Amino acid sequence: MGQPVDRMSAEQPGVAVLLEKVEKRFGEVVAVDGIDLEVLEGEFFSMLGPSGSGKTTCLRMIAGFEAPSSGRILLGGRDVSKQPPYERDVNTVFQDYALFPHMTVEDNVEYGLKVKKVPKDDRRDRVADALEMVQLTGFGGRKPAQLSGGQRQRVALARALVNRPKVLLLDEPLGALDLKLRQAMQIELKEIQQQVGLTFIYVTHDQEEALTMSDRLAVFSRGRIEQVGSPAEVYERPATGFVAGFVGASNVLSGEAARALTGDAHAFTIRPEKIAMADLDHQAVGDECTATGKVQEVVYLGASTRYVVHLDVGGELVIVQQNLDTSSMEALQVRGKAVRLVWKARNNRPVEEATGAIGGSADPEEGVR
Ligand code: ATP
Repeated sequence: MGQPVDRMSAEQPGVAVLLEKVEKRFGEVVAVDGIDLEVLEGEFFSMLGPSGSGKTTCLRMIAGFEAPSSGRILLGGRDVSKQPPYERDVNTVFQDYALFPHMTVEDNVEYGLKVKKVPKDDRRDRVADALEMVQLTGFGGRKPAQLSGGQRQRVALARALVNRPKVLLLDEPLGALDLKLRQAMQIELKEIQQQVGLTFIYVTHDQEEALTMSDRLAVFSRGRIEQVGSPAEVYERPATGFVAGFVGASNVLSGEAARALTGDAHAFTIRPEKIAMADLDHQAVGDECTATGKVQEVVYLGASTRYVVHLDVGGELVIVQQNLDTSSMEALQVRGKAVRLVWKARNNRPVEEATGAIGGSADPEEGVR
C-alpha cells in the first residue's frame, strides 16, 4: 500500500522505511499477514489499530527486535532484515519509558552516546540540546523518581533524539498519561518532530491521537493494513467498514436497510455529524436521504449530544448534534420519541463490508486467528 513514490523527482522525499510482503508468525498465530508499506523521510506516520492487530510486531521488526518470518525490510534503501537492532539507524521510545532509575536525567540521556564512544565535550552539548528540545533544561540532575509522568516521557524522548537516528519508533509513548497531559504532549511531540525533521513512526490504538498528529496513517486490522492515507482521506473516505467504524464514530448500513434508504443494498457509511433531525413530515428535497425511527438513547456531552436512533427500515444510526440552542433537558426529552433523520446522499460513502464494524463501533479487543 502507500503512495507510489517517484524516486527520480527532486521534490519528492525519499523512502525512509519500506516493508515488502512482511509476514510474522508466532507458531500458529499470524501476527503480521503480508504487509507492504512505504514511510517517507520526515513523515509523521502512525500505525493505528485495535489491540492485537499487529502494530507493535511491525514496529519491533523495523527496530530489529523481531525478525520477519518472510518478506524484507529496507531502511533508507538498504535491506536490514537480517541486521541486529544496534546496527540499524533507528531508536525506539516505549510506553514504560525504560529509564535507568538510579541514574540522573542527564546520565540517562547521555548513556547511548557513551556506549557509542562519543567524545565527552560533544556528549555534553548534545545532551543539553536534547534536554532543551523537550523543555527539560534544568532537570538534568534529578532522578526519574523525582519527575512527573510527562517529564519522564520527555526524558525517554530526549534519550532517543540524542542519538540522532534517521527514524524514531514510538510505541504508545503517551499511553500511561492522563487525558489532559496526553493531549498537550501530542501537540508537543508533533512540534518536536517538525523541528528536528526526523521520520516518526508512531503506534497507537487511539484514533484521535493518530488523526491529530499524523501526516499519514495506516489502519491495521488482524495483521493486515486496511487503508493508508492522510487523516482527512481516512476519515472522509474510509476504504472499508472496519476503517469507518474504527476511525471516528461512524454508521455502516447494509443490506435491506441500505436498499430502503438508497435503492442499493451495497454497504455505505455516513458520519454521525452529517445527519440532522428534521420534522417528522419533512419531505426529502434534492439529494437528501431521509429515514424515520425512534430515539433509543441520548448522551449529553456538553458541547454536543449523541443520539442513537433505531430506524423503521432496520438498523440504527448514531447522530451527533452541536448543542447550539439545546439545553441538556431538551436533549434528554427526545429519548423514546419518533424522529426523522435527514442527510445529503453525497455524504454516503460506499465501503467494503469488513471485519466487525457494523453498527458503528469496531471491537477494540479484536483477536487474531
Ligand atoms: P497492542 O495494541 O495490544 O500492543 P498490537 O496491535 O500491537 O496490539 P501485537 O502486539 O503486534 O498487536 O500482536 C499481534 C498478535 O501477535 C497478537 O495476537 C499477539 O498475541 C501475538 N503476539 C505478539 N507477540 C507474540 C509473541 N512473542 N509470541 C506469540 N504471540 C505473539
